[in-house]
Amino acid sequence: MKNTPDIAVYCRRWHSCGLVATAAVVAILSLASAAGAAEKVATRLLPSPFKENMLRERRFLVSLEPLALTREFRRNAGFAPLPEDDGILPLGGWEKPGMELRGHTCGHWLSGMASLYEATGDESLRRRAAETVGILRQCQDAMGSGYLSAFPESGIDKTIRGERYWAPWYTLHKILAGLLDQHECCGNPEALEVAARFGDWAAEKVLPLTSEEAANMRKREFGGIAESLLLLSAAVDDPVRAEKYRRAAGVFHDPTVMDPLDRREDRLHGRHANTFIPKVIADMRKWELLGDKAAFDRAHFFWRTVMDGYLYAPGCVSSKEAFRGPGLQGRFVTGMTGETCCTVNLLKLSRRLFAASDDDRERAELADYQERALWNHILGQMNPIDGALTYFLPLETGTYKLQSRPNDCFWCCMGTAMESHTRIHRVVAEDVAGTLYVNHFIPAEIRWRGMTLRLETRFPEEESATLRVIDAPDSRQEAEIAIRLPFWTKDGCGRSSYARYSRIWKRGDALEIPLPCRLRTESIPAAPSRKAVFFGPILLAGRLGVEGIAKNRLRSTNYATHDFAIPPHLASVPLEPLDSWRRIAPPPPPPRDMDGATVETLDFFAHPSFVTPSGLKVSPFWAVHDERHVVYFDEPAAAPAH
Ligand SMILES: [Zn+2]
Repeated sequence: MKNTPDIAVYCRRWHSCGLVATAAVVAILSLASAAGAAEKVATRLLPSPFKENMLRERRFLVSLEPLALTREFRRNAGFAPLPEDDGILPLGGWEKPGMELRGHTCGHWLSGMASLYEATGDESLRRRAAETVGILRQCQDAMGSGYLSAFPESGIDKTIRGERYWAPWYTLHKILAGLLDQHECCGNPEALEVAARFGDWAAEKVLPLTSEEAANMRKREFGGIAESLLLLSAAVDDPVRAEKYRRAAGVFHDPTVMDPLDRREDRLHGRHANTFIPKVIADMRKWELLGDKAAFDRAHFFWRTVMDGYLYAPGCVSSKEAFRGPGLQGRFVTGMTGETCCTVNLLKLSRRLFAASDDDRERAELADYQERALWNHILGQMNPIDGALTYFLPLETGTYKLQSRPNDCFWCCMGTAMESHTRIHRVVAEDVAGTLYVNHFIPAEIRWRGMTLRLETRFPEEESATLRVIDAPDSRQEAEIAIRLPFWTKDGCGRSSYARYSRIWKRGDALEIPLPCRLRTESIPAAPSRKAVFFGPILLAGRLGVEGIAKNRLRSTNYATHDFAIPPHLASVPLEPLDSWRRIAPPPPPPRDMDGATVETLDFFAHPSFVTPSGLKVSPFWAVHDERHVVYFDEPAAAPAH
């Protein structure tokens, strides 16, 4: 069956059939339900820019010593410093002694190590994480109550009294989530025991609160603690404890933001985005684990509202960390757009909604969002030179990606990076209700239902992909694979869809997937003359050079008040007609500091770059680092005169 069926032909038929094809597809949809169990898909990334980022993140994770990660936990539990501590660099930035958020990195690290283990099967990662869990257990034992944190419990008490403390439950969520990930991905039973004792403490802490005290506590950012308590309730084999954790999760239901969602009102403008999104992810868990339809409806309305009214071109939201909209993004194009944590959390929400959706059109939209955010924000968050990371994704013309320094930042967005760059493998293909949905054109080997499939592509350098059956069991059972047909192809009709193939798959079968790209523009709401340019799904950015940037200004701990000192003549860049843009030869590989045989065997991916008639070089935004950029070009009539 090599080279057949012809997806290009199918695609054209689909797009020309319109409603008739829609009706046919709806008729064969399999309904996913809250209780529907998906089959395991085990995916390993093959060489690509995403895998390179994963390996860079791996190197950073492995560089962090368990004793450094747990130093403040040990101090908080009353342990004296160990002689070995003298030889280990303590963590700085948000992890410094006295910082109220200290300890969050250890939780993200446990999650990142878990997904890396899942992605690679490298036993050394599991052992190192287990060593860390063992130290945390000793800290928990010493504290006696089940509490486990690098800061004292008095931080929580302050928030309950309505006093200020940064975000204690936010940090505790990261630790609980890390423990649960260690249990789920690495099979570490000790991690679940520690998590359950922590859950017992958390329930004792929050269940007796008065409504006023609980409301005080919820005024601080509390991340996904409700989600983790719900996951803990599903992980323990003890109905009494499980019920207790579920009730504790319920204390974190925040009516100030959820009630408007229940009324289908958009009150997002001005709300702190990264405080908001995890509350909605918890709603998805309420749907998955408890069948709470109202929670699903809230999450669904929220997602639709964000997609329709708050997104920027790279798939990010927020300016200065707050939602801006609906439809106001053009008035908030700043150097502080797109906090990366928000995009990571929207990706998480999209994945949960994808698993729950019973509508292929909506699934395709969810995958569209994932693709936009993965290629245009997450991939470009990391600098290939040294693995430095952005906090914000500045979109104001003339700004640049301000990135972290290795040991004196430890921002939230460095923490979520530990997770986002190590779990790309989970979204390439997903099983929903027995169908394998191939969503993203990222090279990968996929094991599913006894088969080994290989998704081969050098997209976007090559505008096609092949899904090849490498191995298949002798079976008479049909299996269904759905390939995403993206809206942005030359043949596309503006809406993505899936082509479904159900058959008895045999070794050597292959599906050829044409992905012809074209240059296209997207306007930003509230400033229609400002346009982002895409090549297929890839957001392009003009390279504006380094004028006015001292070398030490590209890395900073101070993302919140950074002055980009944009030269006036770089504050606006006119959009030249797209048919005059010329594709240029791939640039030479940028300098890289990655060592080791594994990395050297990776192919280096070139970029689909262009040059405009005025000589501006335009490259994928993910590949533009260490220089000023333009993402939103100004149509000439609207461009200010220089
Ligand atoms: Zn962040």
